[in-house]
Amino acid sequence: MKLINPVISSTGAVSQFHTSSGIVYQIKARVLPYLVGSIYLVPFDGDWVMIDSGSGDATSNADLERGFEIVRDEFDSSFEINRIRHIILTHAHVDHFGGASEWSRRSGADVWVHAFESRLVTSYDSCARVENLRYERFLLESGVKSEDVQTILDGFGFRPGRVREADAARKLYGGETFGTLRFYYLPGHSSGHLAILFGDVVFSGDLLLSKTLTQIWPTRMTPQTGALNYIFSLKKLEKIAAVFESRFGKKLIALPAHEEPLYDIPRRVDVALKSMERRNRRLTTILNDSPIPLSLLELTQKMYWNGRPNREFFALSDVGCRVELLLQLGALEIADSERLTREEPVLRYRTSFSNTETTENTIQQVVGMYLTGYDSDSI
Ligand SMILES: [Zn+2]
Ligand SMILES: [Zn+2]
Repeated sequence: MKLINPVISSTGAVSQFHTSSGIVYQIKARVLPYLVGSIYLVPFDGDWVMIDSGSGDATSNADLERGFEIVRDEFDSSFEINRIRHIILTHAHVDHFGGASEWSRRSGADVWVHAFESRLVTSYDSCARVENLRYERFLLESGVKSEDVQTILDGFGFRPGRVREADAARKLYGGETFGTLRFYYLPGHSSGHLAILFGDVVFSGDLLLSKTLTQIWPTRMTPQTGALNYIFSLKKLEKIAAVFESRFGKKLIALPAHEEPLYDIPRRVDVALKSMERRNRRLTTILNDSPIPLSLLELTQKMYWNGRPNREFFALSDVGCRVELLLQLGALEIADSERLTREEPVLRYRTSFSNTETTENTIQQVVGMYLTGYDSDSI
């Protein structure tokens, strides 16, 4: 049986995929009120590893528990929760790691996560306190009024007490191989984002999704994120897929943490990169057309604004990381910097040159610079 014809459980919540290295189960769970996630069970040394853990919210835990029952009742009668030996996190966003503590306790599994995000898993409350101060500064500089800052931060929901901290986490760095699992460091969507190769599939987390484009953040908010790391990781994933195909004569399939499997990674990468270009062009056009320099809030309102408090932070972050890249490349500049004070910290942007082609060429050069010398033969 081919992976492209998964066996789907009676309720549709569990899919069984046949990969070249063994059977993988995908369990769908409502991880956040507005978001469905995919958690995977992967065979490992006679037992199982679980990739991601849901959010730890009651609905997420209940969906996952039901998924485990379906795996056992409809597919593999030998499956038990206590046969999950490791919980491996693609990254430490709440919809992926919030359930790690609960499922680690119930299964006896240890938790693996990239080193850059292990503190989020074990010391979430402390991270939330510190990061929120950084985000507050970002929002004030973006032009958000101080009385609106807390509402936007509350909508985002990165707050102490939000998740139960895990006791310990084993640190990964990318580049490791454990049995049939191989780890790749692909930052951009988060600072410690991992992709995990297993036979002819790669668990690609949130880096590349089938329908929507993943969220990215300015590096000033979270190190190792930002537009350039994201572009670089997309290119790296594309190369991994290309080398896999030339070596094994078949396509590498990506199983992402949301939405549907990706059967053509290079094509989807191309769509994501083109969309990046389009958004950058739109941003520079808006600034070129504006008679006055614009704050990030004003720019975001002109780019897209859907007005939902929990999405405002995402929209500002998305535009913020593009502004950050264009500023870094000299395509944008900050106007009236002499007026900035601690009390009036709003940054306003204008373009440095009116030709958007120059901006795109510069980005291409920087990506080329990143990729020069990249050894793609060792997948
Ligand atoms: Zn994520
Ligand atoms: Zn996610």
